[in-house]
Amino acid sequence: MKNSKVTAAALYEGTFSVGVDYKFNKIERNSQPHKGSLKLSINPFLIKNGARNILFDAGLGDLLGDGTSINRLISNLQEQSISEYEVTDIFISHLHLDHFAGIAHRENGYWELTFPSAEIYVSENGWKQLSSIIEKEGEDAADFYHFIDSKANLNFLNDESEPIPNVRVKKSGGHSEHHQVLFFDNGRQKYMMAGDVIGRKIAINRNFIAKFDFDPQKSKAIRDDLKLMAYQNKYTIMAYHETDHPMFILSDYSEREGYTIKPVAG
Ligand SMILES: [Zn+2]
Repeated sequence: MKNSKVTAAALYEGTFSVGVDYKFNKIERNSQPHKGSLKLSINPFLIKNGARNILFDAGLGDLLGDGTSINRLISNLQEQSISEYEVTDIFISHLHLDHFAGIAHRENGYWELTFPSAEIYVSENGWKQLSSIIEKEGEDAADFYHFIDSKANLNFLNDESEPIPNVRVKKSGGHSEHHQVLFFDNGRQKYMMAGDVIGRKIAINRNFIAKFDFDPQKSKAIRDDLKLMAYQNKYTIMAYHETDHPMFILSDYSEREGYTIKPVAG
């Protein structure tokens, strides 16, 4: 019988020190970030579901850092026995460049799609809004946007939808105005990718309002709801910016200690 088990993996691209200039400077996994900078790792997630190879967010590409390229992501896929041509569907939680610049690259000196066969799913309003502000991100970012806009197989999503079997996308707002939460659920295996609403493990048990959020209060409220839902329904949380064990479940809860975080392999 064909093995139809779903597998999921984090495609770790590296750890970065990110300053107010939004430049991603590569650092060692265990290093501290530079002064006044934030330590962020990057993990697109691959879910293999039968004939579909699905990505939840798409990595940095070569747009945001010195010496970053698409090669790490492609070799990570090879380790999972697939090529970039076999990626069928890419869901983008929100349209900050560190979450989706990997869908195109300039390895050969001009823009090319990294995953030429993939359908790409983005927030419709988010995509429209980005067109009006992308020039501010610089010429390269604007070129990237217009290239994607004309050449990629873009699919536009609104408040809540299930564009392919087992994948549900729900608009949350919070971190960005049109931020979306991505869910995979086939009745047996459940994954939740909440973009930068739950970007790191520290978001689980620390009560905080993040000043970099578009709507910090709302982001906190959504985060609390999602944590409870993940705990009650046994979702594996996929944390895009986590450095170690970016996939985990919330296995227990106590008033005093909060949630128990248990790493999941992948
Ligand atoms: Zn981010």
